[in-house]
Amino acid sequence: MNQAWHSLTAEETATRLDVDLRQGLSETEAGNRLASFGPNEIPATGMRPPWRIFAGQFSGMLVQILIAAAAFALTIGEILEAGVILALVLLNSVLGFLQEARAERALVALRRMAIGQATVQRGGRICEIPADRLVPGDIVLLQTGDGIPADGRLLESIDLSVQESALTGESAPVRKDADAVLEPATALADRTNRVHLGTQVVYGRGSFIVTETGASTALGATARLLESVTAEPTPLQKQLDGLARMLAYGVAGVAVVVLLLGIAGGESFRTMILTAVSLAVAAVPESLTALVAITLAVGAQKMLGQGALIRRLPAVEALGSIEVICADKTGTMTENRMTVSVLDVAEHRLELKLAEPDSGGLAAEIAGHPAIDLLLIGGALCNDGLLENPEDPHGAYRVRGEPTEAALVLAAARGGRLKTALEATLPRIAEIPFDAGRRLMTTVHGPVATDGVGPGVVGRYLDGGRYLVLTKGAVEALLPRADTIWVDGDERVLDAAWRERITRAHDALAEKGMRVLAVGMRRLATLPDKDARAALENGLSFIGLIGIYDPPRPAVTHAIAECRQAGIKAVMITGDHPLTARHIAEEVGIDTAAGVIGGSEIAAMTPAELRETVKRATVFARVAPEDKLRLIEAYQSEGWSVAMTGDGVNDAPALKKADIGIAMGRMGTDVAKEAAQIVLLDDNFATITAAVRQGRAIYDNLIKFIVYLLSCNVSEIAVVTFAPFLGMPLPLLPLQILWMNLVTDGLPALALGMEPAEDDLMERPSQTAGELIFGKQGLYLMLLVGALITELSLGIGFAYWLGGSAAWQTMLLTVLVFSQMAVALALRSRSRPTVQLGWGSNPALLGAVAATVLLQLAIVYLPPLQTAFQTTALSLGDLAVAGASAVAVFLGTERIKLAGFLRQG
Ligand code: ATP
Repeated sequence: MNQAWHSLTAEETATRLDVDLRQGLSETEAGNRLASFGPNEIPATGMRPPWRIFAGQFSGMLVQILIAAAAFALTIGEILEAGVILALVLLNSVLGFLQEARAERALVALRRMAIGQATVQRGGRICEIPADRLVPGDIVLLQTGDGIPADGRLLESIDLSVQESALTGESAPVRKDADAVLEPATALADRTNRVHLGTQVVYGRGSFIVTETGASTALGATARLLESVTAEPTPLQKQLDGLARMLAYGVAGVAVVVLLLGIAGGESFRTMILTAVSLAVAAVPESLTALVAITLAVGAQKMLGQGALIRRLPAVEALGSIEVICADKTGTMTENRMTVSVLDVAEHRLELKLAEPDSGGLAAEIAGHPAIDLLLIGGALCNDGLLENPEDPHGAYRVRGEPTEAALVLAAARGGRLKTALEATLPRIAEIPFDAGRRLMTTVHGPVATDGVGPGVVGRYLDGGRYLVLTKGAVEALLPRADTIWVDGDERVLDAAWRERITRAHDALAEKGMRVLAVGMRRLATLPDKDARAALENGLSFIGLIGIYDPPRPAVTHAIAECRQAGIKAVMITGDHPLTARHIAEEVGIDTAAGVIGGSEIAAMTPAELRETVKRATVFARVAPEDKLRLIEAYQSEGWSVAMTGDGVNDAPALKKADIGIAMGRMGTDVAKEAAQIVLLDDNFATITAAVRQGRAIYDNLIKFIVYLLSCNVSEIAVVTFAPFLGMPLPLLPLQILWMNLVTDGLPALALGMEPAEDDLMERPSQTAGELIFGKQGLYLMLLVGALITELSLGIGFAYWLGGSAAWQTMLLTVLVFSQMAVALALRSRSRPTVQLGWGSNPALLGAVAATVLLQLAIVYLPPLQTAFQTTALSLGDLAVAGASAVAVFLGTERIKLAGFLRQG
């Protein structure tokens, strides 16, 4: 139904779509429309069907080489070799397929979680529904930070600006106008009375009527999927890919050397070609990339279980190496359960217990103190919160809105000033929305009838004015804009003495951890035109202060202590006053010894000064979103890896800049979620530390199996390369190499990745991703373990060969396989002796090791397998030697590990 909706008025649109603008669709009608139009989602073009995932397994260069090798073996008549190579190809493909399919499923589950909510008007009520249930005809409310969930025609726009770059490529926000009626030929980018799926409200408020959903939207027409969760490669994966490529070339070189040495040593060309190919196959860790991918995806799923939705997979890995967490105070460290606790006006202060429905004679106080009354009225009217049930006979009011605002509406209602009734007499006709930079919000109400009846309760405060301007916000933002103060029904000049008293009263509240809002008013005879609106916030009459308390979250204190142990700096960043910040910081255990740094101080610092400051300070107050960006830059230029939380539109740049951007799932705007790598479903700081712990556990396990696979490969290459130098014939036959590759690469590595998190995870310092494996230390580690296996297996093989034993090759192979199992067992922990771990914690690994040992025994003792793999039965004594060498490798690996090679810092 692609019509020129932009050339219709809002009413015409509503008529076409058969919807009542006051009521919205009924639930039944919405249900019917959902059935006929389908859900509001763009079909996921990124999902691959299973057969394609399976086919994809054969696209790698390595697999193709393997298939070529099998074909070659077949042409020279080595049917068994060809069969085993093909079996290997198939096995690896099945393993790869299972891993990828699981990773893909995990991603789909994450995507499903990431579906947004939309605020709609249905059946006369305002409610929130999952955005995929929107239908044409639905009326959707928009506010700053919302992602626009469908295409539609605007009904109302108040200073509405929309960022449409996802659709039009234009990065500057576009100003919208619900009243415009446009030419049918107007281009998409110029349709100012329309909004589109995939764009975001960066300023203002509004509402629209949905005209298209899902694939019928402009975004759907471009068939571009809105990526809610992406699977881009992590830094570690990129490094591993590079390593695999390097190994492939390196091994090709080694294979040629082995080939030439073998031929020079008198082996047949045929055998040597097969050996070279098998060696290449064995040396390249082909399962590594798939193993890493599945470990990350499964890790992301576990984090979801703990309340952290991973939007970009690299975050899983990056979490393990985070060194600084910069978190908002409100909602992250506190509960965001705001309660008005104190009302403070000239010469009177009232402490409230608003947690209880009967708020202790508040109504009586109002009668005695007009300024208290005005303070409550001002707080409720200059407010976007909605009182949902004004008629509740027990006063158990429900308020929808931002928690600070909701607290004010509730307090007024408890004092008998219902926002709904106030608005009926004094409707809002203009506003300057709150923004975190100005820290002020202003609304204009009226006009008041001139016939003397007046607007009820407020009439007596209006003193003949027809319009009432109400401003609320931070005290230091509001006070300079006020000239008078309201004292017991009179207006007096706001002199220096009054200003000082107000500041003292403010500080006393803030020191108790309260967020303090000042409220002021102004009466106007006429309304200034639109352009002169900014001047409204001047010449105010100060009414009073409202102290709002928001308790710290109980779990945060422990989480912050855990951060300290883990060497992670927990930093509080808040828009609130320094005194409020200090109190809450102390309550949750953040160090305030270095003082509280204010936003204005940050703004005045040079980058070098700021770098010095962030080394010490951990609490920043009155921080504007731009300051957040500078703080991150300061931390990053000190070489620290930073996680930053955010919720507002203005936080998006900081969320993008941080090493990990974390958006609030409940209170956060869609814009912030879009910019973040992680969304916290419960907004809780403790969830961040839980995710860090999980990230470290995952990173730990990645390191374990990467080290395992690579050191095993090193030993395999080394054995085959060095044997000719000892004068030995070919130490391992092609089939034996392939066999070893088959049994040691897959299952034990996968099982190592399942090792449960170690207890001391959060007692170690963070480490930088990739450094351990790709730095010098990692190289030494793999060489040391590889050398240990090589020495033992080659040494024993050499001794048997010298002694003329027919079983020398079988012995060498068995020692290699057993030793590799010993390495797997020793790598279960990176820092602790394996015996301390207990044997029960990773049954998968024990199973994989036992299965591998049994399979090895099978090819050594079962006659048909003996023929196929050209093995010879070993004596019990031989087995004991192989077992003893495995024990030696185990102890040696433990020793290397405990010497600190697997740890950092
Ligand atoms: P935190 O970082 O702790 O989450 P914040 O940065 O979200 O806090 P803001 O919401 O920006 O803090 O509030 C900063 C200041 O702006 C508050 O201390 C208060 O003085 C003022 N303020 C907050 N909300 C409103 C509002 N709805 N109307 C007017 N002023 C407000």
